[in-house]
Amino acid sequence: MSADAPEGCTGNVWSALTGGHPGFDVAPEPGYRFGTDRPIDGPGMGALIGAAFDGCRPCQVRWLDALQSDPLTTTRLVELAAVSVHGTLGGVPDRMTATGPSSLSEPFRALVRAGVDAGDNHRPMFAAAQQLDDAGRRAALNDAVDMLVGYMTMGGL
Ligand SMILES: [Zn+2]
Repeated sequence: MSADAPEGCTGNVWSALTGGHPGFDVAPEPGYRFGTDRPIDGPGMGALIGAAFDGCRPCQVRWLDALQSDPLTTTRLVELAAVSVHGTLGGVPDRMTATGPSSLSEPFRALVRAGVDAGDNHRPMFAAAQQLDDAGRRAALNDAVDMLVGYMTMGGL
């Protein structure tokens, strides 16, 4: 993973791994595979969260570009967002699963629905992430990281 900061980056940290922002430590979760040949992209997820935490849109876009073709990483990030909301509110609010017009993307809500319906079994969520195209996974990742960072900055994590 190369880490030249993109044009317009607002960060002032130099990290060989993440560019202009400190990355967040994301547990590697080696058992979280669902039959894929590689694990979640923990450093990429950490970089995306770091960019979003710093509010740097150019870097958020750059890490979304890097991760949008990865259904496993998409599943994990949506799950982390749902778990953080669940931990803060004691449940997943209807707005995260409802169909119809919403400020949240349908792909994000579809993955949350698959996760909620299946309890602790994340395979249906992964299967749904595999069904999405890159644009759908990108929308899900973007909503997930915005939500995760929103709860982090509220002190929810
Ligand atoms: Zn940046």
